[in-house]
Amino acid sequence: MGFPSPPPAAAEPAADRSLLTGCPWHDVKAMRQRMALGWLLFGKGDRHLTAEMLYEEASRAKVPVSLATIYNTLHQFTEVGLLRQVAVEGSKAYFDTNTSTHHHFFMEDADQLLDIPGADVVVGKTPVPPEGYEIARVDVVVRLKRKS
Ligand SMILES: [Zn+2]
Repeated sequence: MGFPSPPPAAAEPAADRSLLTGCPWHDVKAMRQRMALGWLLFGKGDRHLTAEMLYEEASRAKVPVSLATIYNTLHQFTEVGLLRQVAVEGSKAYFDTNTSTHHHFFMEDADQLLDIPGADVVVGKTPVPPEGYEIARVDVVVRLKRKS
């Protein structure tokens, strides 16, 4: 038929294999929970969630999982680049399923993040980073309150 043969298994990127070396990734129950959380997280398009919000969704979806597992899973997903963490307040971490470059509105009355397309924010003058550092990225959170 002339189809190219599939690439050999050895061509798999090393990053994927590294996921399996850590103990939690070997645990079947943990893997199931992680997959169920993955469905909840990534099955609905781009969204911004806190651990508590995901915990509520998991409960509603009858996924038996503790809040501690949710935290761990969110941080593991972030470490491998599936999620991006957005710090809005000291106590609250939002996780973004959209890992592309973009900024956020934060609606203070609704505790909700909204995407601002990257091109819509003009950062006037980026500061000079300390010796030996370069700017990795600039995150802008524009806080909104209702007009009084
Ligand atoms: Zn976002």
